[in-house]
Amino acid sequence: MASPVEVCNHCGRKVHFGSGWFVGRVPDCNPLEARIADDRPYPEGDFVCAECDSRNGDGEYADDWDGNDAGLTLENLLRVAHQVPHDSHHSNSDLLGSTGGRS
Ligand SMILES: [Zn+2]
Repeated sequence: MASPVEVCNHCGRKVHFGSGWFVGRVPDCNPLEARIADDRPYPEGDFVCAECDSRNGDGEYADDWDGNDAGLTLENLLRVAHQVPHDSHHSNSDLLGSTGGRS
């Protein structure tokens, strides 16, 4: 296998040691065919420079946190409002004359 082409396959910039882009370069592990299929401008390059790497990897981690908890609403509280059926009239006065039976 030939030595890796120390070129960024995005911008064609040289990333060899001393080029200024040696630090931060990322080796592209994709095969040449994949780079061509991926429409890389410089598919022969075996690396991606730091600039293109940060540009490609979309660093937009926008975590939209929607804390939308529908818990206790006033309507629910009113629904539980006092529905006590008032049973008041017990007009059944039964008087038990208890005669204590002694034996
Ligand atoms: Zn680049």
